[in-house]
Amino acid sequence: MRPEVPTIPVIPYGRQSIDAEDEAAVLAVLRSPLLTQGPATAAFEADLAAHVGARYCVAVANGTAALHICMAGLEMGSGEGITTPNTFVATSNAMAYVGLTPVFADIDPDTLNLSPAETEAALTLQTRLIAPVHFAGLPADMPAFQAMAADRDIRIVEDASHAIGSEYVGGGKVGDCRYSDATIFSFHPVKTITSGEGGAITTNDEGLYQRLLMLRSHGITRDPARLSDNPGPWWYEQQALGFNYRMTEMQAALGASQLRKLDRFMARRQAIVARYHQAFAGLNWLVRPPETPGQSVCQHLFVVQIDFEAIGQTRPEVMTALLDQGVGTQVHYIPVHLQPWYRQTHGTATGQYPAAERYYDRALSLPLFPAMTDADVERVITAVRALV
Ligand SMILES: *Cc1c(COP(=O)(O)O)cnc(C)c1O
Repeated sequence: MRPEVPTIPVIPYGRQSIDAEDEAAVLAVLRSPLLTQGPATAAFEADLAAHVGARYCVAVANGTAALHICMAGLEMGSGEGITTPNTFVATSNAMAYVGLTPVFADIDPDTLNLSPAETEAALTLQTRLIAPVHFAGLPADMPAFQAMAADRDIRIVEDASHAIGSEYVGGGKVGDCRYSDATIFSFHPVKTITSGEGGAITTNDEGLYQRLLMLRSHGITRDPARLSDNPGPWWYEQQALGFNYRMTEMQAALGASQLRKLDRFMARRQAIVARYHQAFAGLNWLVRPPETPGQSVCQHLFVVQIDFEAIGQTRPEVMTALLDQGVGTQVHYIPVHLQPWYRQTHGTATGQYPAAERYYDRALSLPLFPAMTDADVERVITAVRALV
């Protein structure tokens, strides 16, 4: 244990921004009759669908629940799902929940996103799903995945947990589902907007939308048009095996309030990202994230790759040195195929996805969140430059 505790407050790698409007929105719900299954959830869904430009939206308890019922609602049967190893475990776990075998394909070392070429190479007759993750907020190469899936019986689900607000190359907001069957979002506090815990699915597929509504709430429907019988006002039918993945009204009110600030959050994130790029441009031992001229990207993480060998320091040493200057960091992500559960149940092993592993060995996420002051940003820059 280190005897010294930093005396300056630590800037975390990410943090929510909650203001008086958010507080008032939640308080209003607490004083209203409905704490769940009420108007706030429906309003948040309508706002989010309108914001991203999708026809339908279903809000749920968290991003993992969104992945789960999205994949369940696509009714793919058994087979394989392909995703990136450079993601949070929830993306591939959801495939396993619905009886698909998770298969990984390596990343593009420049974009850090799922590589279309590696995905193509991983396709088999059993492939049912491709789930690209818009890592750090940068949209994956969706037209390439759409083209791959077009002539085959393959669904596409976008994991946009990092990418609310971002636009695709050539336009369109992430979540409008122009390239996919559905898109999922997470509103965990480290994400770009938060509802405490929370998630959502957007889609343009009416059939999927109806199945999602049922799967979110035990597989139960009360819709008169869908009932096989209707003996009285108490009646409901469980027509599928669903879950209780509902979002509370408090979460929905907070989510809607945060969504109203998304454009402002995004502008601040973009300004910080631009300053980091400028400040780190000359460092030959540090690789910056890809720049995206002409494309509006809402970056969720600022991940640099550091040549630890060249600077003669290990990653733990660098993390400690930065923490001593009040700069918190994190690593996104330990490649999922290296997790013990995947090694044990799917036989994955070190060396299988070399680009993801090489990236992981060098990755470090620097602080990036809208409430950072200019002084915070300069503190991060000074601390990073002082490493060498
Ligand atoms: C956060 C995250 C999830 C899971 O979202 P939760 O709301 O925490 O369940 C899934 N995928 C990615 C890429 C994430 O970052």
